[in-house]
Amino acid sequence: MRVRVWARLTVAASALTLLPWVGEASADTAPSGDHERTNRVEEVQVLGRSVDGRRIVAYRKGPEDAKRTVVVLGQMHGDERAGVTTARWLRDRVPVRADVTVWVVPTMNPDGLARGTRTNARGVDLNRNWPMNWRRTGRGITYSGPRAASEPETRAMLRFLRRVQPDFVASLHQPYGEVGFYADKPRLFQRRLARYLHLPLRGIDIGGPTAPPDPNPPGDLQPGGADNAPTMTGWYNAHFPGTAITVEFREHPTRRFVRGAGTALLRAALAD
Ligand SMILES: [Zn+2]
Repeated sequence: MRVRVWARLTVAASALTLLPWVGEASADTAPSGDHERTNRVEEVQVLGRSVDGRRIVAYRKGPEDAKRTVVVLGQMHGDERAGVTTARWLRDRVPVRADVTVWVVPTMNPDGLARGTRTNARGVDLNRNWPMNWRRTGRGITYSGPRAASEPETRAMLRFLRRVQPDFVASLHQPYGEVGFYADKPRLFQRRLARYLHLPLRGIDIGGPTAPPDPNPPGDLQPGGADNAPTMTGWYNAHFPGTAITVEFREHPTRRFVRGAGTALLRAALAD
């Protein structure tokens, strides 16, 4: 389903670009250069439905097929809410370069968001449900589901990423306060991301093909190692040339950080 130009939001968002605003994460990352910028949402797509029938929605700013495409996924775990705010702020208030396609998906787990749970409505951890190195786990907060890509939320996002094939994907989480590092992906982008977000790079290949043995106990929430192999970023990095990065905000990021993070993400992704 496709809805061209969400007029009401467009008008509101355009007016809001006039507001003066400098966020914490953007204090040294304010947009610069001669690129024309636009704050219009050009397209709204429903990517699919959750278990409980809620819509999973993607918003596009910028042209449909620019040379570079960035996807910001605000949330996969329903109890990690800061990234949703970042995504909505990016969607509504941050002008983006007119030569870049930016897709914003505030949440791929609307049921978890509504319920305040990490998992989806069937108790599945969507970041353990991807079709790469999937294996069955016991029920619990990292339950991987009955089979790979068993959940409608996983399949909706998977179809979307396959179709759009972004150059950069940022998957926002909490609370570890770090940027996941993939050794076989461009390092400059990852370093910039960490620098602009003021978060440390965690030097592990989360769920990737060269992931080291998991140093953490089975079923833990800390990203890293084979225990967490079927993640979205691991799957995307293994199958596509683009770079998908897990960004863990801290447990209690400031409002200014959460708002400024979208600008920092874009700046890292688009720096030449
Ligand atoms: Zn998470």
